[in-house]
Amino acid sequence: MLLTCPSCKTKNFLDPYPFWNFKGTTQCAGCKKIWRLETSNGACVSGPEAASGTADLLPGFAETPAYEGISGTGLTRPAPRAQKETVCKPKAIKRNVRGNVIAGYPLTKNDLVGSRAKFMVAGAK
Ligand SMILES: [Zn+2]
Repeated sequence: MLLTCPSCKTKNFLDPYPFWNFKGTTQCAGCKKIWRLETSNGACVSGPEAASGTADLLPGFAETPAYEGISGTGLTRPAPRAQKETVCKPKAIKRNVRGNVIAGYPLTKNDLVGSRAKFMVAGAK
């Protein structure tokens, strides 16, 4: 999603996962003004309205009207990291008689964590 700052016209790119169903405040990375907005199923349903205080979530990336990138501590959120317990861990796989991979096997409940955003499939309550 894109929040074009009504004040300074900076384009703030809001990550779809944290901002999918969101109600709160975010901060423009260009002018640091606080904006209140509400989203439902990835669409903005209310706002942006000027607000005060601290931002609940920062945008993932921002761009000036002249297409210059803005990022950094206090302006944008850091990139998401892989889960610590899944890094460098081989996944058991199942192969057919020709040796081609046909499935990850066996999958446990923990292997499926983060593989599917259930709140996106289920929709807003
Ligand atoms: Zn701004």
